[in-house]
Amino acid sequence: MTIVTRFAPSPTGRLHVGNIRTALHNWMLARKAGGRFLLRIDDTDAERSREEYVEAIRADLSWLGLIPDGEERQSARLALYDAAFERLKAECRVYPCYETAQELDLKRKIQLGRGLPPIYDRAALSLSDGERAAKEAEGIFPHWRFKLDHDEAITWDDGIRGAQKFDPAQLSDPVVRRADGSWLYMLPSAVDDVDMGVTDVLRGEDHVSNTAVQIQMFTALGVQHPKFAHEALLVGSEGKLSKRLGSLGCDAFRERGIEPSAIVALLARLGTSLPVEPIADRKMLVESFDLASFGRAPARFDDEELARVNTAIVHGLPFEAVASRLPEGMDEAAWLAIRPNVEVLADVADWWSIVTGPLKAPAMEAEDKVFLLQAASQLADSGDDWRALTSALKDSTGRKGKALFLPLRQALTGRDHGPDMASLLPLIGVEESKARLQAAAN
Ligand code: GLU
Repeated sequence: MTIVTRFAPSPTGRLHVGNIRTALHNWMLARKAGGRFLLRIDDTDAERSREEYVEAIRADLSWLGLIPDGEERQSARLALYDAAFERLKAECRVYPCYETAQELDLKRKIQLGRGLPPIYDRAALSLSDGERAAKEAEGIFPHWRFKLDHDEAITWDDGIRGAQKFDPAQLSDPVVRRADGSWLYMLPSAVDDVDMGVTDVLRGEDHVSNTAVQIQMFTALGVQHPKFAHEALLVGSEGKLSKRLGSLGCDAFRERGIEPSAIVALLARLGTSLPVEPIADRKMLVESFDLASFGRAPARFDDEELARVNTAIVHGLPFEAVASRLPEGMDEAAWLAIRPNVEVLADVADWWSIVTGPLKAPAMEAEDKVFLLQAASQLADSGDDWRALTSALKDSTGRKGKALFLPLRQALTGRDHGPDMASLLPLIGVEESKARLQAAAN
């Protein structure tokens, strides 16, 4: 059977790092099995859903390289939900309720005050036809709840959490449809998972009790439920669910110069028993993906760790992978020379402007100035061969170590540290190098 997974964001905001992780894992699960990864836009909440977020979700997934094999959106599928609803209604698995939000709130407060769990008391189930008609005559339209079957425990074998068991009597019958006819998330999602052929639902553990309810919905609709797996939530490095993570998304990553492959490498393994490594090769990550490696403890997201993974990935990027993002004129030799000295790709521009100049001549010690003039004339013999240059200078001046190398680096680059001079010298070129040595000696 082909594995089908789906990522189902609500377009009520930008994707954050937690959503990105869920999307990635669904993508990996599908890729590993040679299956399909679908995007489903959960936009039944017309008031809070925005087209700009739908577009941003697509753009973010594409930037991350998580390309869906298909896309659906719930607002285009309302007829399906209607049909499922009519069917459940005919079987008395949904029932109309007339309580106002305030009445429900009051009931909950009373229950909590008595130390009872705030479970809906099913009062609406005992309304007579006449009482219902009276409500509607008053202009009060019902919202609808799904009637949980209390007869049997709800169980499933969770791909991450193992055997799960819920007592349905401990859950409220969920509202599936509002009085204005609009849908809450629960039923449409189950209907879509069936219709889209979703075989594996992988989502955050905040959905565990929804799963218990949805399993009964699948049964009520007469279909087998998909496999479920719930991953532990992502927390900040301080160990708490953080507001900051809830707004940390692709824009912020891009701004910091984080490569999509670094985000993917980190999130692929965060919270698993596999080591987080700077693996840019997605095939390798996909190969090692395994729900059995997922832990139950919250996964800690650490910005510093992301920065480290990013730098390691940048250091390994081949020229072809970055060519279009490098400064004009920068070739492979320049990339390879500069690459080990940058943390993010954008840092390349600084080094490239040092290579191409113009360079402001650094202030040098008087004793070094004579040495730099010697170096300038030595270039006529050594050309751009750094080793030939420095060994000739060593012989002729008796300088070695720092006294030999540092003034040359300072005069040629204006910096104390940086890329290997043997690679830089040919990039700067003999004429320009000579001019820089002479300028620094002035
Ligand atoms: N739209 C739901 C959410 O964003 C989808 C949850 C699910 O994966 O079923 O929470």
